[in-house]
Amino acid sequence: MNYLNEREQLVAYGKKLITDGLTTGTGGNISLYMREEKQFLISPSGIPYFEMETEDIVVMNLQGEVVEGVRKPSSEHELHAIFYRNRSDVNSVVHTHSEYATTFACLNQEIEPLHYLIGSIGEKIRCCAYKTFGSPELAEEAFQQIKQDKGILLGNHGVLTIGDSLGKAFEAAKDIEFIAKLAYRALSIGTPVLLNQQQLQEAVDKFGTYGQP
Ligand code: 13P
Ligand code: ZN
Repeated sequence: MNYLNEREQLVAYGKKLITDGLTTGTGGNISLYMREEKQFLISPSGIPYFEMETEDIVVMNLQGEVVEGVRKPSSEHELHAIFYRNRSDVNSVVHTHSEYATTFACLNQEIEPLHYLIGSIGEKIRCCAYKTFGSPELAEEAFQQIKQDKGILLGNHGVLTIGDSLGKAFEAAKDIEFIAKLAYRALSIGTPVLLNQQQLQEAVDKFGTYGQP
């Protein structure tokens, strides 16, 4: 079995989707791109994260064919593959149904910059139009609409994030849910004061030196 290390990472992050409250049941899916081999590893379709084992992870090529694995791959494999085919900066895609962010997605409502952390995603969190789950149309819509951002709401469905590593894509999914929860609460009791472009840019610049050198 190839890619044992990466399979273990995917299994561990699958469990984290549940324990970190980013999805329930078998909702969502995660993948990791092996750029040199032009293959990606993706979670299987419809297997609960706490039952998923390394051999359940499916290896696919960029044409959407299974290269290794006995399981059926995630129904959203094209939503992942489209980024690996077309974006050299993306090595991992995370899709969740996290509740607060999905609430905004059900309203087809973008989330405005009410907290500086939104700068790690983009100037705001956009929402793309509803398309049937697992369809090439959904992949195309999310791919076209995400633009330079690290994540997007999928209309009437959930969240999609991208990153140069699984950790980064996962962190973006966590940040989006955190911001969506704040937006939901802030909008429930008042009118959020929004950050302007300059304030956001200053925060983004500081992310570069945040934490330990
Ligand atoms: P899979 O179990 O096939 O990955 O589908 C879950 C999902 O979230 C579909 O959008
Ligand atoms: Zn989904």
